[in-house]
Amino acid sequence: MSRFAHSHRRRPTGTQTRHALSSFALVFLTVLAIICLCPVTVQAQEVDSRSEYGTVIGIDLGTTYSCVGVNKGGRVEIIANDQGHRITPSWVSFTENERLVGDSAKSALHSNPTNTIFDVKRMIGRKMDDPSMKQNIKHWPFKVYEKHGKPAITVHHQGVERDFSPEEISAMVLVKMKETAEAYLGEKVTHAVITVPAHFNDAQRTSTKDAGTIAGLNVLRVLNEPTAAALAYGLNKNGPESKILVYDLGGGTFDVSLLSIEDGVFEVLATAGDTHLGGEDFDNRVMDYFTKVYKKKTGTDVTNNARAIGKLKREVEKAKRALSNQQSTRIEIESFENGNDFSETLTRAKFEELNMDLFRKTMNPVQQVLKDANVRKEEVNEIVLVGGSTRIPKVQALLTEYFGKELSKGINPDEAVAHGAAVQAGILSGEESGGLIIDVVPLTLGIETTGGVFAKVIPRGTPIPTKKTQTFSTAADNQQTVLIQVFEGERSLTKDNNHLGTFELSGIPSASRGIPQIDVTFEVDANGILIVGAADKGSGNVKSITIANEGGGRLTQEQIDAMIAESEAFAVQDEMQRKRIDTLNSLSTLVYGTRTELSHDQGGPANKIKEIDKAALSTLLSESVQWIEEEGPSASLEILEEKLGDVLNAVQTLYRSNAEDDSTYEWDRTEL
Ligand code: ADP
Ligand code: MG
Repeated sequence: MSRFAHSHRRRPTGTQTRHALSSFALVFLTVLAIICLCPVTVQAQEVDSRSEYGTVIGIDLGTTYSCVGVNKGGRVEIIANDQGHRITPSWVSFTENERLVGDSAKSALHSNPTNTIFDVKRMIGRKMDDPSMKQNIKHWPFKVYEKHGKPAITVHHQGVERDFSPEEISAMVLVKMKETAEAYLGEKVTHAVITVPAHFNDAQRTSTKDAGTIAGLNVLRVLNEPTAAALAYGLNKNGPESKILVYDLGGGTFDVSLLSIEDGVFEVLATAGDTHLGGEDFDNRVMDYFTKVYKKKTGTDVTNNARAIGKLKREVEKAKRALSNQQSTRIEIESFENGNDFSETLTRAKFEELNMDLFRKTMNPVQQVLKDANVRKEEVNEIVLVGGSTRIPKVQALLTEYFGKELSKGINPDEAVAHGAAVQAGILSGEESGGLIIDVVPLTLGIETTGGVFAKVIPRGTPIPTKKTQTFSTAADNQQTVLIQVFEGERSLTKDNNHLGTFELSGIPSASRGIPQIDVTFEVDANGILIVGAADKGSGNVKSITIANEGGGRLTQEQIDAMIAESEAFAVQDEMQRKRIDTLNSLSTLVYGTRTELSHDQGGPANKIKEIDKAALSTLLSESVQWIEEEGPSASLEILEEKLGDVLNAVQTLYRSNAEDDSTYEWDRTEL
């Protein structure tokens, strides 16, 4: 067999560990561990001086909404954004000149559908060939294409086509949350805890962490959402084992987790859910109903009228929220379509009827987690409600009925995860003392062996952090290279599992098949991030490598660095944009203000001007008004500043030369 041919890359066969580790190999393993700890996925984390962190913030980066909290002196505060809202849409919109994030981005959907991005949490850490991607892409109004196997989102911004990775879009939302916290705290924020669903795999966690890095945040911990919710309820107190069911019904996803907590140690026993079930589905049911009603009454079908649908969607969501507190509500939309108004009543009973099957469907994953963890419903001590949609009374009623007990709902369900993230952040920043938080590996991790057989290394449900080494061998005589293919999943053949990454270990000295011993080490850190290494034991020939980035759902360090640079460029650009708008506002205030004064003023500076120059001033002003309207919106900062200077000068000159006394016309820009 040729020594360097491609066919040499054989898969190792799983064999039993034959020898105890020699001290030589141990040294190498240590070396291996050290090398493995260096790359992208792991950052310097636990430094001694915790005060270096400053205030650590907790961020719930949701599919539809995000929320940020801090722990100050043992008290958690959920922070409202610049619109006064405690939850911020995880949306980013690119208009011709501006980048909008949050509430303003969501409002831009119907005016700018192809450049308004949402749902990135459904993309992050996924490869393009992930079956869920194809399904999702069909429903997104924005363009997603494949770039090196991963999704890239294309937008039209500032006259050019630009593409962004899901990490970059998430980073924009994270920056918004960071800035929200900074505005409240009055200081820069550098460290954060970010939450992810318990079922997120390695690539999804790593990519979420990368998004944090791009946003200028040192992510101290990637925390499971249900664990965060339990923390928010203070369920991590020492004591006997208790079982907690976390029911999270959000905007677009449904997650159920069963946790066990004993002496402050958390374990996720099981997770289940529906990746496409949530508040938006309830909204859609109501939308369908009303478009039918409208068609019946008026004969007009609005389903293809994006503007009308956009307006209806907003009002329907509002109505749905109102129905969580009242029995009936009215939806009124002025000039809904073609000048006609929309006016309908929606009762809670009708809303429930339209969605009853969906509400009932949520009970299946609840039963599933109990079954998976072999726990009876009577053994569940707490039922924790998470997600905005659990405010719906019928949803609560179904759960209470099933468990026959009261639900934990003291904390706003759409804030519970951020609340818990802030508790964890407080623990990490030394603000709060707190126990260990342990989660588990959600899917079995292992490698491919001969014949595509999946060799399990770390079983599903193993508490993290964890590290395991297993010995494998070659499948052919004189095989010099082994291909380590890492997978996660529960199926026995790798083709049915999820491929995480691949790397090669070469330079294995010639030997008969089955003789070389290759130690494969899997390490999952406290964030649930996986590092895999391999070492050829017998020869001491060690090639330690982490999972190759190419083809996986993750980014390389270079890509991250480039994205950080781009994010900083955006910050500069945003600042420019802010200045541009400020200058345009100053100019408008000057021009319109002077014009008003000129026409009304009796005692101010304007009446001191001779009639003839009033005409000159009024010509200058109307020319300026025209310029502001026509040129202003697209003018650069430089041009705007120049224009402002010119107009200000001209106005001042006219006043000065015409004032009957010595007073000059003062224009104080800081008053603007
Ligand atoms: P995410 O899924 O992004 O984590 P949230 O947990 O914040 O989102 O849930 C958002 C969903 O909750 C939205 O569909 C919203 O309409 C819904 N929602 C918020 N408040 C209420 C309410 N009072 N009644 C019913 N649904 C609500
Ligand atoms: Mg959520």
